[in-house]
Amino acid sequence: MKSIWSASAEPDKFPKLKQDIKTDVLIIGGGIAGILTAYRLHSQGVNCVVAEKERICGGTTCNTTAKLTSQHGFIYQKLLKSAGAEKALMYFKANQAALDEYKRLCENIECDFETKDNYVYTSDEKKLEKELSALEIIGSDAELCRRLPIPVNYSGAVKFGGQAQFNPLKFIKSISRGLNIYENTFVREMTENSAVTDSGKIYFDKAIVTTHFPFINKHGSYFLKLYQHRSYFIALENAPDVGGMYVDENKKGYSFRNYKNFLLVGGGSHRTGKKGGSWEELRNFAGIHYPGSAEKYFWAAQDCMSLDGIPYIGNYSKNTPNLYVASGFNKWGMTGAMTAAMILSDMVTEKKNEYAEVFDPSRSIIKPQLFINGFEAVTNLLTISKKRCPHLGCALKWNSAEHSWDCPCHGSRFSEKGKVLENPANGDLKNCDS
Ligand SMILES: Cc1cc2nc3c(=O)[nH]c(=O)nc-3n(C[C@H](O)[C@H](O)[C@H](O)COP(=O)(O)OP(=O)(O)OC[C@H]3O[C@@H](n4cnc5c(N)ncnc54)[C@H](O)[C@@H]3O)c2cc1C
Repeated sequence: MKSIWSASAEPDKFPKLKQDIKTDVLIIGGGIAGILTAYRLHSQGVNCVVAEKERICGGTTCNTTAKLTSQHGFIYQKLLKSAGAEKALMYFKANQAALDEYKRLCENIECDFETKDNYVYTSDEKKLEKELSALEIIGSDAELCRRLPIPVNYSGAVKFGGQAQFNPLKFIKSISRGLNIYENTFVREMTENSAVTDSGKIYFDKAIVTTHFPFINKHGSYFLKLYQHRSYFIALENAPDVGGMYVDENKKGYSFRNYKNFLLVGGGSHRTGKKGGSWEELRNFAGIHYPGSAEKYFWAAQDCMSLDGIPYIGNYSKNTPNLYVASGFNKWGMTGAMTAAMILSDMVTEKKNEYAEVFDPSRSIIKPQLFINGFEAVTNLLTISKKRCPHLGCALKWNSAEHSWDCPCHGSRFSEKGKVLENPANGDLKNCDS
């Protein structure tokens, strides 16, 4: 099961760590967040190392949709209500700056970069009006659109002009060249100034955790602040060119974009460990609406969802001045990762970043989603089952679409035989064959 990106590009290979080393800044996790942060630090002459447990960008980044936009669903009405106009504007400007930075970098990188308009559609008129008025308050020139070339139920959409899309792996292949990266280098443990891997220790002054789900449980309470949400994709040939990029405001709806002669359709989504429509739903949809099309690729991915829709970027916790994090991208981690790279590279070089405050991981956690996450944790801890997640002990659920054991609490996943597929668990299931 390869995504369209993995089938079309492969980043260069990097060596495995073979001895103890020392660096000023260690970045743990070589997804797009880690690689972009390393790229920015390296460009500023900072001595930094990336430790990646497998191949760089072989995690969520190679299974994304790769839309580059500052329009993240109907986030602005939520931000206005929960964080106020000033922070909503900060969020918008940070993501616009990230989009602009991609545009600048991609001028010199062969990565199928294209400028496209982005649309978030809904059939809920009230939400549509609220989003448009939130966007007016922060001064965006978003537009209302009543006609879309996609076969879904909607009454209207909010359009952001001049957004973009690209091939993430072609982009990463280019920017990762010349960086100091160790692949197949799994960070198992952390001390205050070193990361322990199977083949050596990496001593650091500062460390940045970009492991998708942060793996250090001792600080920051990420096991309360994050859950994971999974989506499915199919890439269709002989399907229409829909012109722009589209996504439903509702997390359970569909997403569309073209890549070359393919139409990518996403959906079938669910909280990891719960039931959802998966590829079956997408295939039924394609059969009805694109009857002459042919499926060439299918894949799935999940992302970490924060309590308030804003990523966690900054100090890992209040008590860890030299430890930083970037996570909780809420399925918008392309611009989110660039925002993280800008903020974290400023923080570790002791420069002020005007957008850092809104992403501060130590902000209040008293949000309705906290109680939902708590409920899931308690329910699954009390559920009787032989299959338990080695992360925090929750009962695992069988995912019949993908033949995996998935954790409804934090989203760790394991193959049928018990091999860990997705973190935060950092080891296989015990008694794999039982
Ligand atoms: C269905 C879906 C669609 C999406 N579409 C879009 C979109 O259109 N636009 C957008 O902006 N965003 C989108 N996103 C979000 C985006 O893809 C992600 O937020 C982003 O790729 C996350 O990048 P990352 O670097 O945080 O994680 P990853 O890419 O998962 O990288 C983390 C890396 O850390 C490594 N690692 C983990 N633990 C360790 C350890 N202990 N030691 C060493 N290495 C370790 C892993 O092997 C992995 O390579 C989408 C996400 C999903 C799920």
